[in-house]
Amino acid sequence: MKAITLKNVKKEYPGCSVPAVDNLSLEVAEGEILTLLGPSGCGKTTTLRLIAGFERPDQGSIALAGRIVTGPGRWIPPEKRKVGMVFQDYALLPHLTVGENIALGLKKETRGRKVMEMTALVNLQGLENRYPHELSGGQQQRVALARALAHNPVVVLLDEPFSNLDTDLRNYMRREVAKIIKAAGTTAVFVTHDLKDALAVSDRVAVIKDGRLEQVGSPVDIYRHPETEFVATFVGKSTILDGVIGPDGLSVKTAIGTIPCAHTHNHRPGRQVKVSIRPDSFELDPAGDIWGTIKETIYGGNEIEAVLEARTTNGPVDLQVHIHPEEYIREGTELRFHVLPEFVAVIDL
Ligand code: ADP
Ligand code: MG
Repeated sequence: MKAITLKNVKKEYPGCSVPAVDNLSLEVAEGEILTLLGPSGCGKTTTLRLIAGFERPDQGSIALAGRIVTGPGRWIPPEKRKVGMVFQDYALLPHLTVGENIALGLKKETRGRKVMEMTALVNLQGLENRYPHELSGGQQQRVALARALAHNPVVVLLDEPFSNLDTDLRNYMRREVAKIIKAAGTTAVFVTHDLKDALAVSDRVAVIKDGRLEQVGSPVDIYRHPETEFVATFVGKSTILDGVIGPDGLSVKTAIGTIPCAHTHNHRPGRQVKVSIRPDSFELDPAGDIWGTIKETIYGGNEIEAVLEARTTNGPVDLQVHIHPEEYIREGTELRFHVLPEFVAVIDL
């Protein structure tokens, strides 16, 4: 049984010309962490609110643990859906202690035991009597998570949970929150516009654009095998070129030459496609066929991100490349590359 099933869900706000969520179908397995990833305004928060029952869809249905909670002629109110919510600003009550915040809404008989269990789960033992303002951002987030998990929800929804944390804490809390959710065995849907958040915490990532699902897959899948130009460029950097599938079916002819690719999805030779080449696929090679001049560089410590202006028979083409930081390069340096097939993806037109 699936923990969450969305079928053709549509939501249009009054006065908006385009739907916030447009014919979205998605399944989340029990115990899975799924992230909705997309730019600001693409409908992520609205999708969470539809699942929680804070909004009604105009069309489609939503089922939680096999029970339809919204659909034609059916409506289960939010408080009866067994959904836990962690808000971006945590929404802790400032005049209540950690223990009291976690205990909110719990039955008297189970309260003491549950608070103990939850503070242990989120590693906040001994801080039960502190007030939210006496906690760090990461600790406040654990309280919010403990409060959501205390009700044994079918699913916990987290809206941009890491956006208020600075970089160090953010890296740490990504691991912590994912670990806690896995330990609790709960299904979770995260929302983020941050690629690193999505790749780090998720079993699967659903990439959303303009309220529509672009692609859903494991982090490795969506990075290595983007199926649309949007996914290729939103989920990391990529060079997109026009191409034609080669006679062997395992290469693509482009302006910068014939590019090898591991997966062409059984495309027929001669078919017109686009090809996405991750910067990781360009390897420096003094004998490489691809040559040009470095146009821009960003030094990143463990790698140099650069734009190579490649010379081709059709004129210059800009390529996004990564270069090992020990190389001494600057704007104007002339370099040659070849392409490794691992991070090349064929995109249907
Ligand atoms: P995200 O969380 O991905 O940034 P939202 O779901 O918040 O996106 O918003 C999707 C679209 O719906 C946006 O264009 C936004 O302006 C619009 N929207 C969101 N909430 C409302 C609302 N309550 N009333 C009208 N329009 C809204
Ligand atoms: Mg949002």
